[in-house]
Amino acid sequence: MKRRPQQQQTPEADLFSYAASNFPTAQAEPQAGPAAPPSVNPAPEARQEPPPTPEPPPSQPKAVQAPPKPEVKPEVKVAPQEPQLPPGAVPSAKPQPKIAPVTEPKPSPAAEVPSSAVANSTEATHRAHAGFSRSLVVSIHDVSPMTQEVTTKIMAELAEIGVHRLALLVVPNHHCKGHFLDHPDFCLWLQAQARAGHEIVVHGYHHRRDQRPGETFRQKVATQYYTAGEGEFYDIAGADALRIVSQARQEFRKLGLSTKGFVAPAWLLSEGADRALQRLGVCYTTRISGLFDYTTGTQHHSQSLVWSSRSAWRRGMSLLWNAYLFRRLHSTPLLRIGIHPPDFQYPGLWKQIKTLAGRALKDRVATTYAAYLRLK
Ligand SMILES: [Zn+2]
Repeated sequence: MKRRPQQQQTPEADLFSYAASNFPTAQAEPQAGPAAPPSVNPAPEARQEPPPTPEPPPSQPKAVQAPPKPEVKPEVKVAPQEPQLPPGAVPSAKPQPKIAPVTEPKPSPAAEVPSSAVANSTEATHRAHAGFSRSLVVSIHDVSPMTQEVTTKIMAELAEIGVHRLALLVVPNHHCKGHFLDHPDFCLWLQAQARAGHEIVVHGYHHRRDQRPGETFRQKVATQYYTAGEGEFYDIAGADALRIVSQARQEFRKLGLSTKGFVAPAWLLSEGADRALQRLGVCYTTRISGLFDYTTGTQHHSQSLVWSSRSAWRRGMSLLWNAYLFRRLHSTPLLRIGIHPPDFQYPGLWKQIKTLAGRALKDRVATTYAAYLRLK
């Protein structure tokens, strides 16, 4: 019997939204947080512990064997698949993509680790294989045709310091400025990233939540100040979440990409959306406070390092906070570093991100969420 993770229902924002969301008040585990900035967390009481979901999530096989072996597959053209709507989902209105799938679905855990991996990563890999896993998941949020260029630069610099596997959080139609399926170059690029061992994660759909008339002060704080209007799934109805996430997953399948996870924009996930993810067979989600494995009902507490670039004072506080958080998370099995494309524009932020990632690799293995959870 699957259990649902005990959700921490405090909404946390990610930092592309670019609020002071990287701050510690949402964290369940005890923390002193002397360097922590003041909380702006709206913490609506309405988002209390959800009742047990009436629909248990589909069974998900869970690997318990040793870490997956590298796998090399020839590039094969496959016919477009018919969309497979889950029960209750509304058929997609999205037109057929202009680009044919060119790869077979391939779970990212099976990806290769480049031979150029740094020595300390190799040593850490050996320890991981021996059962002493300490992992690092670096995720790049808000990947889309709009951010492909800067994402490529970020990935190249991370590879230089030994981060060869990333979670790429892809927004299907970023701010409604162009669906990724309408960008053949982006599609090919995304397929190449999956083949290289990076994990493709669904990250909302439009990544935008427009302000609505009659909102309460708390809603405004959460959706405008806290997330700058990016909290698409903050209060979305379950039925809408079911339809949208189902559609997004089908669209990735058209490229031969099988997605395991879903991360809500700004990490703001309504209760209804949380249940919808499980109905759809999504294997995991993340919040700023940790990783939630739907297949086992397990929580992996690990507050994500994340930077706010929206203003000078936020950038300054981000540097202090993340330095502190990195030290505090020293003993956690999983360390998470969340990067947003604008971070790259600020040398101070980017320097700290690379420094902390490089430091983490001294005794951690860079991996993906799917690999960390040993999902097949
Ligand atoms: Zn985002």
